[in-house]
Amino acid sequence: MDTDSGVSCSLCGVALRLERYRGLVTNDLWILHPKITGHAYGPDTSWTKGEFVGCIGAIRYLLPDSPRPQIEIRDANLGYNVTLGSEFQFGRATETRYGPLEVPPKPCYPIHNGCWELLKLVAKKLGMDQTSSFQNRLYQILNAAAYDGSHLLWPHNYDLSSEELVRTQAGRRYHNNYEDTSYMDSISLQCLESLRVRNPLADHPYFVDQTEVLDKHDLTLNIPDFLPLPLEITHKVLSFLPGSEIVHLNKIKSNKTLQVPDYIWKSQFQLGGELGFVIDPRFSKDKPGTLWYPRYLFAKEALSESPLASKNLKRRWGIFSNLVHKIIDTDYSIPCNISPFDNDEDIESRSKFLDGLYYQDLEIRVMPQRELEDDLGPLLCDGVKTISYGDVNVQHFQTTGVNISYTGEGRLRFISGFQFQPGNEIVGLINSNDSVYVSFRASSPTLIVLWIARSNYGIHSILTSELGYEPVFPPIDSLSVTRRFLETGPDGIKVTDFYIGMGTSEITELGIRSPQIKDREGLERQEWFIQSYSWSPNVPPVFSNRYIEIDHYSFCGGNIYTDKSLRRYAPPLQYILFAEEKITRFGCWFNFDRQICGIGFFPKETDTPLIIGTSTKLSMDVVLEENDILTSIDFVTEGLGGPVVGLTVHSTSGEVFHFLLSRSNPSRKNRKNVLSVESGRQIAGIFGGFWDEDNPRNPRLTALGIITSHRKTPPTTQIKPNTVGRAGNPVFQIEKTFTDGTLPRELVPNLNDPFLTSSATLYNCSSIDCYILEDQFDSQITGLGVHYGEDTEIQNTRRRPATLGRICGRKLMKSSFDVQTDQGEYITAVNVFIKKIYVPRFSKQPIRVIGMVFWTSTKRKMSFGKCDVEYATKVIYMRTNIENDLAIKWIYSEDFDYVLNWKDA
Ligand SMILES: [Zn+2]
Repeated sequence: MDTDSGVSCSLCGVALRLERYRGLVTNDLWILHPKITGHAYGPDTSWTKGEFVGCIGAIRYLLPDSPRPQIEIRDANLGYNVTLGSEFQFGRATETRYGPLEVPPKPCYPIHNGCWELLKLVAKKLGMDQTSSFQNRLYQILNAAAYDGSHLLWPHNYDLSSEELVRTQAGRRYHNNYEDTSYMDSISLQCLESLRVRNPLADHPYFVDQTEVLDKHDLTLNIPDFLPLPLEITHKVLSFLPGSEIVHLNKIKSNKTLQVPDYIWKSQFQLGGELGFVIDPRFSKDKPGTLWYPRYLFAKEALSESPLASKNLKRRWGIFSNLVHKIIDTDYSIPCNISPFDNDEDIESRSKFLDGLYYQDLEIRVMPQRELEDDLGPLLCDGVKTISYGDVNVQHFQTTGVNISYTGEGRLRFISGFQFQPGNEIVGLINSNDSVYVSFRASSPTLIVLWIARSNYGIHSILTSELGYEPVFPPIDSLSVTRRFLETGPDGIKVTDFYIGMGTSEITELGIRSPQIKDREGLERQEWFIQSYSWSPNVPPVFSNRYIEIDHYSFCGGNIYTDKSLRRYAPPLQYILFAEEKITRFGCWFNFDRQICGIGFFPKETDTPLIIGTSTKLSMDVVLEENDILTSIDFVTEGLGGPVVGLTVHSTSGEVFHFLLSRSNPSRKNRKNVLSVESGRQIAGIFGGFWDEDNPRNPRLTALGIITSHRKTPPTTQIKPNTVGRAGNPVFQIEKTFTDGTLPRELVPNLNDPFLTSSATLYNCSSIDCYILEDQFDSQITGLGVHYGEDTEIQNTRRRPATLGRICGRKLMKSSFDVQTDQGEYITAVNVFIKKIYVPRFSKQPIRVIGMVFWTSTKRKMSFGKCDVEYATKVIYMRTNIENDLAIKWIYSEDFDYVLNWKDA
């Protein structure tokens, strides 16, 4: 039963519950909203500008069948609940345009009451008082965040792992909380947050009178005196260790020990300590003079009693402290030379400036926030809203370095302002508590490298380095790096224009004009190509001797990448380089629209693919042969620069992968772009861009190029392409309906979306690789790799390895078995164990292959997975009476796998 409103707490991201359903407790909510004056909630409503208040409220469906929930708040003056008019956007979920109302819609932000209380405690622990400016700042920050229809979108992604986040077709994200709702349930955390005692722990030694237990339980901890240092310094070292590590030290046997001073245990509860997220470590049975060591032990024990709840508390603590830091920094920072950005003139002058930029200028934009109409109604936005702009009000200034101000902390820490030296030219929000100096100066005329790393939500860092030095940027989601060469010397560089756009406290756009940014003409071609784009997560290496080279001539695809005037909107390019490594598998992944959203290669002996784009649950893969050397990729687009509809990979032995999507748009002719290498070279990597203008959260492959290297080994004896099918691999088709044969009844609920099929014969099969995925539900077989023996009739020919289902995945286990073809052995029967999975609140019923048994002509049997007739929902038996006549068809999508005898299908 669906008990969630589809709208989440603005702070922790967990879905809010409605009281529409009987028997369920409605969480108390704190609702942050514009201050309303007067009590007429109709068209006459007014509010005090710039003042935002919070109060207790609830979310209700007022009409039984209303799709849109509404907010009810407790009005302290009236003493009763008032329903906010529909002119208020609820959590920014819906934009309502209700006729000629004078009142513009203002969003309200629902927050779990528990989250609101926790936020206040975090603010207090970080030294910020609850003033009205706190609520105002918070409202501004919430209001500037992007919104996907159910969540505010933050750089921290609510600190959930990818397993905990479920992405839907529209790009919305929900928490995957099928397994344990207590993890997300804020009520169950209440006892934990203040560490109030629950019964099972009441007999903990800590709560028995200390004098009585002194003999039985040590109230202090002794550890080996392992450092030949004065005692104070040893204590200092201990103060940097998490308590759990100190406890571990106790287990080491030693003749000489020392006692851990109690303040070390107290510091575990302070900011940055192991239990810094335990808000109020005063326990209900506290006594004066209680030592901190037993308190520490008790807190650890209480937390381990509810590991999921404590993980959730720690998660929320992290998010909220980042948020509070941002509020504090924004409150104390000094805004300089920036003004609100709200009229057309501003927009015009800004776009003129941007259009005037050319190669020697530098322009950096984080992802702009956009409003999009979504099928399901709510607007879909992303990135950061630019609300003010400014420039250094002196043009043509000379600078030797800049103090760069940052606001926020953790993943909310972004550049907010610049203070140039020596002239003290300033722009943006200056935060003296967090600034980093970056030098533009060199002792003699030389080239230095300017690095700018940005994410979708802000500029992460700017730094300069010597030529040849590659800084390492952290693996942050959506981080992309731009580099440019600066010609500098003892006087630094000359800046002719410096422009910024700003969100609440982060730089969203940056334009620099300087004659000392190196001209493209003076750059080596690879370097020029690299400097023309930004790259994620890092800039690819440039090899000077042409051993490995980014083949920029091969780069083709979407206009956004190839048209210079559009390029400023283009997401960064990604690359993978495998160079000399043998590639054993190749695969591509599809998004919900069945467009390619990821391409990956598996280097030998690894199960972790190198990927550009993103991997999804739906992939098409091939096993490559030992001696395959990749020589070209055909990249088929619908029309010029249109969506990618096909991809073919060639190796020295022929076509190894082929995919072509048939689209019902005959007016646009498919265009084939051939990315091929010169003779004597081979594909050593690829680079590409992913983007979808209409749905930025669901990007697809739009541009592709290759990295090439010298072919070290000369071409060996080639394997002749076999005679069956294209390249011997199953021909993949995306089908809307199952056309060739009877539709398995079990699949009907899952067949609304297009699905994939692959098939392979077991004739002359020499070995089978079985790929097994272990996940939260169970283990399942996602695909098979089928290898073939040498054909005895046509000498020296061999069928290419075939793939059934999916074999790409980060957590797949492979097990194999060999068929003794040289002794005439062949596969005579296959049993497939199918299980239907029940997932609460999920309309489709996932179907899995949980086990497979192969029988051979010599009565050998090989089992994979769970081959239990009782446990399976259905067992499919395939057998042959004719020698070598079995063939398998694998039908699959994100949510199901199904296996048929090819002949039946
Ligand atoms: Zn919450």
